[in-house]
Amino acid sequence: MASLARSLRPLARAAKAPQRTFLGGVRKGPQLRCLSTTPQRRQADALDITDIPPTPISHLSETESLMAEQVTRFANDQILPKVREMDEAETMDPAVVEQLFEQGLMGIEIPEEYGGAGMNFTAAIVAIEELARVDPSVSVLVDVHNTLCNTCLLKYAKEDNKKKWLPKLATDTVASFCLSEPASGSDAFAMQTKAVKTDSTYKITGSKMWITNSMESSLFIVFANLDPSKGYKGISAFLVEKGTPGFEIAKKEKKLGIKASSTCVINFDDVEVPHANLLGEEGQGYKYAIGILNEGRIGIAAQMTGLALGAWENAAKYVWNDRKQFGKLIGEFQGMQHQLAQAYVEIQAARALVFNAARKKEAGQDFVRDAAMAKLYSSQVAQRVAGQAIEWMGGMGFVREGLAEKFWRDSKIGAIYEGTSNIQLNTIAKLLQNEYTK
Ligand SMILES: Cc1cc2nc3c(=O)[nH]c(=O)nc-3n(C[C@H](O)[C@H](O)[C@H](O)COP(=O)(O)OP(=O)(O)OC[C@H]3O[C@@H](n4cnc5c(N)ncnc54)[C@H](O)[C@@H]3O)c2cc1C
Repeated sequence: MASLARSLRPLARAAKAPQRTFLGGVRKGPQLRCLSTTPQRRQADALDITDIPPTPISHLSETESLMAEQVTRFANDQILPKVREMDEAETMDPAVVEQLFEQGLMGIEIPEEYGGAGMNFTAAIVAIEELARVDPSVSVLVDVHNTLCNTCLLKYAKEDNKKKWLPKLATDTVASFCLSEPASGSDAFAMQTKAVKTDSTYKITGSKMWITNSMESSLFIVFANLDPSKGYKGISAFLVEKGTPGFEIAKKEKKLGIKASSTCVINFDDVEVPHANLLGEEGQGYKYAIGILNEGRIGIAAQMTGLALGAWENAAKYVWNDRKQFGKLIGEFQGMQHQLAQAYVEIQAARALVFNAARKKEAGQDFVRDAAMAKLYSSQVAQRVAGQAIEWMGGMGFVREGLAEKFWRDSKIGAIYEGTSNIQLNTIAKLLQNEYTK
């Protein structure tokens, strides 16, 4: 199968032409118009969207629609047959990772000059959602690689590191984002991992925990405190290659869900990297982490809406086609129909939050609260719908023959990583309080 991202490049380029906008309208006037109910903060680099006719938030550009169609086909043809086996083995099939690279899904936003697909953020969100509809484990591999790691390099790395790493990240090298530690989860900046600057290197010592993609990755973006006397303002980010002396993948976690996604403890025992491996500037790591995670949350939200839709569709097909009780299909009972309809409404409401947050990010508008709302709500909906879907399928939902029970197990992680639900609520409440305090 030809690389779908590469085949979409001409469309992506056309979509970037100055007269076009991501909403498909024509850009004219000088002022901004807010496309959501969230009060807008103007930014110098925000897109001028004043005269764009309002469009449904669910509207996708031609490129994004093609991305959705082609990823759906790829996921159903190539990934679906392996989902149960990978989950049982708690391992990502290396052939799947290879195919993700071949399809261009590991460098969605990486510009063409660095060998990527040169698409927009929403295209990445669409891909993450469509993959999660089939396998949330594959989805998170693509999500962390694209929305955290590639974005980190794109936004903050110096040109030499961009030239060195972006072509690899787009074609054959998986990356991990190493922030959390045994003693610092929600309070991420209380990290204990330290870096010491020598004449020619930074020496990193400490442990990271819960690191997604560890088993597949060759590049690790590692946050460590270079000057603990400055507190979180001493945190810097470093590029560490697998195999550097002192680097050890210590323990692979056995998890409730997204089992095929690798999650490991990583130890750093005087790991020395050259000064060139500093990502961006010293002492800016906390800003990079906050910025990247704000965006990354939209990716996790898309993983959760994809998961919810996958769980809903799996059950809908069963109740409306396969299972009869009392002489008719169980999906014909009104008690069942109301539940299916209610769940579908919730999924679409969550998707609206996700796409609104993505569009606001792309437009350069303040999207922090929108991203937190999208992640919070979509993970709640995913858990609720995936749980109900098991009940709609009765005993067949409870066994490991199908995917219903897996979707539910996988849904639990949405409320935990990239900021727990309480942390999203903290963010939303803090921003609301700022706005409503006189
Ligand atoms: C499968 C998986 C993959 C992950 N992948 C990565 C990765 O790739 N990179 C990475 O750096 N990290 C990763 N993480 C770590 C993840 O981001 C953390 O688990 C998460 O931030 C929560 O931290 P914690 O587990 O230490 O929970 P804790 O911080 O101990 O939280 C436990 C509970 O306390 C609540 N709580 C804590 N503080 C507050 C507060 N101030 N107000 C209200 N409630 C609070 C939380 O909401 C939660 O309910 C991953 C985790 C998992 C499980």
